[in-house]
Amino acid sequence: MKTKNLGTSWEEIEKAVEILRLGGLVAIPTETVYGLAADATNEEAVSKIFKAKGRPAYNPLIIHVKNTKMAKEYAQWNKAAESLAEKFWPGPLTIVLPSKKNSNIAKTACANLPTVAVRMPSHPVTLKILDQLKRPLAAPSANLSGKISSTSTNHVLKNLNQKIDAIVDAGNSAVGVESTILTFKPKPTILRTGFITPEAISNAMGLKIAHYDEAGPVIAPGQMKSHYCPNANLRLNAKDWRQGEKKLGFGNVECDLNLSKDQSLIEAAQNLFNFLHILDSFDTKTISVSPIPNEGIGLAINDRLIRAAIND
Ligand code: AMP
Ligand code: MG
Repeated sequence: MKTKNLGTSWEEIEKAVEILRLGGLVAIPTETVYGLAADATNEEAVSKIFKAKGRPAYNPLIIHVKNTKMAKEYAQWNKAAESLAEKFWPGPLTIVLPSKKNSNIAKTACANLPTVAVRMPSHPVTLKILDQLKRPLAAPSANLSGKISSTSTNHVLKNLNQKIDAIVDAGNSAVGVESTILTFKPKPTILRTGFITPEAISNAMGLKIAHYDEAGPVIAPGQMKSHYCPNANLRLNAKDWRQGEKKLGFGNVECDLNLSKDQSLIEAAQNLFNFLHILDSFDTKTISVSPIPNEGIGLAINDRLIRAAIND
């Protein structure tokens, strides 16, 4: 199949919507990373996402909605979800809730779980698509399963050219790392770190939020140990550089690419996946990475780097 390159004019957005309405796959821009979208109410369309990505069926998809009202059609909403959505939506926070009994979200999208993960993205183009389609979109990151996520259409095409119907090009993703995922059961727990920090959520909820690794039996399905992998090996917390390695720096260091000379974690998150794609294209054996402070958005950056360093 030929993958159509679409821009962001009204006509081209209409084209993307038509493809989605007919059960096709479209890579869409979100503020976090590019997503691979299908009509979340269409089982056949959703199953195409799993096939194109080589994603295991047990790994559920995030359901993107155009507003809180749409989220409430599919999820058993609660007060905490209401206040978090008020504070952080549209934006990079995904909330896991029990599914509504009469929900028509494809079962495969939720990996047959009794829960649904919902998020209202803030990217204006994707909000227009959702508004025109009038249906929710299932959209994981637009990359092959386990590989580096995509923050530009170049990255998407590297992985998925000719496997998907179209791609809507809106330039580089602003945030650069995936959404924070939060569940309430058995207690409020972060299943995946992201741009919205544990402190911000704790402050908004007025209570301490657990992280999945301290939460005992709560395990996020699909949060594989190995993920976001380049072909090269990663050497993390590199305080010295070794010959033959590609060097991904942070702060005031000599290196091949610098995530942020000014030590801005926001800038580092924006650059992370793009720089891993670039350094990996040199077919180097090892990419070494400077230490990244493990606080705020640095938690999400280190989470991605640690998983990217595990190659199995
Ligand atoms: P990705 O689509 O790659 O951004 O990953 C989405 C992640 O969201 C999955 O790997 C799960 O960890 C999480 N997720 C999605 N749906 C659910 C759900 N119903 N229950 C718990 N976690 C979920
Ligand atoms: Mg992903």
